[in-house]
Amino acid sequence: ASASDRIRVTLFPGDGIGPEIAESVKQVFREAEVPIDWEEHYVGTEVDPRTQSFLTWESLESVRRNKVGLKGPMATPIGKGHRSLNLTLRKELNLYANVRPCYSLPGYKTRYDDVNLVTIRENTEGEYSGLEHQVVRGVVESLKIITRQASLRVAEYAFHYAKAHGRERVSAIHKANIMQKTDGLFLKCCREVAEKYPEITYEEVVIDNCCMMLVKNPALFDVLVMPNLYGDIISDLCAGLIGGLGLTPSCNIGEGGIALAEAVHGSAPDIAGKNLANPTALMLSGVSMLRHLDLHDKADRIQDAILNTIAEGKYRTADLGGSSTTSEFTKAICDHL
Ligand code: NAD
Repeated sequence: ASASDRIRVTLFPGDGIGPEIAESVKQVFREAEVPIDWEEHYVGTEVDPRTQSFLTWESLESVRRNKVGLKGPMATPIGKGHRSLNLTLRKELNLYANVRPCYSLPGYKTRYDDVNLVTIRENTEGEYSGLEHQVVRGVVESLKIITRQASLRVAEYAFHYAKAHGRERVSAIHKANIMQKTDGLFLKCCREVAEKYPEITYEEVVIDNCCMMLVKNPALFDVLVMPNLYGDIISDLCAGLIGGLGLTPSCNIGEGGIALAEAVHGSAPDIAGKNLANPTALMLSGVSMLRHLDLHDKADRIQDAILNTIAEGKYRTADLGGSSTTSEFTKAICDHL
């Protein structure tokens, strides 16, 4: 392929285990001859006044220009005077939806073998609006913001996703019986969008009942769409159903067609630098990035190599009960390719 066929994508190796698992991704992608060039950006050591965070302006520009990127976990530095890295990315790039597919891995036994669902989390408002204050001593208030604009946008994305991926059902998860105004508006927006997609079954499930149903019979669900905090919690619950945080990928969808893929997990400081981390979640995030780029052949090949390596059971990292290092597991995947 000529240089012009190659695609530039942004890579944030991130903190903690990030650089180790990003290295695994690069290695596997190289082995599979994926026609992309990584534009690597590290988290800075000083606050960039243009972003008010440790993320440089250039790194954000890189994502805006390439429209596609892969991100390792970023630890939230403690201290005042700057914004959290993840919050900066979310706000600056307008990453409004977080898509978290979750399916049972063949050959890796958990309580269920038929999980196949996708949670779609509103990523910009709700309880994460950062509006908290003390009313009087001993009484604090936190504002949960729900807007028609953001609710319609994430609902549109959920139905669009369901249709594009041959999914049959969208469930809106809520607590509108108590939060009548906020979750009520969220549901109203979901209903409006649902009317435009008559071929997709739409249902509304109260969050507490949803949790019970998920642990009892996760196969009941297909695509789930929900406000920010519920999405945070439900997607970790779903990760637990299939074997934990080492396995679950996600993709952030932003305005103007931006897609920034990342693992659901954090920087895992307890195992960082020890060659112990499971790179599967970041690799599968990379696979979803390839699908976004319409590189489906490469995505299929890499995904098969990862799943076959895990199913075979010879090389598994410690979180899956094995004794392989990150690099041994990565090499096994390359051998499968
Ligand atoms: P974490 O996800 O980093 O770790 C939770 C547990 O899961 C740990 O025991 C860890 O060892 C294990 N784990 C996570 N990923 C793993 C992997 N790939 N392989 C094997 N084991 C894995 O959560 P935490 O400890 O609450 O957070 C640590 C830091 O990460 C914090 O600074 C937090 O702010 C940050 N964080 C960042 C993101 C992100 O960048 N999107 C998400 C969550 C947390």
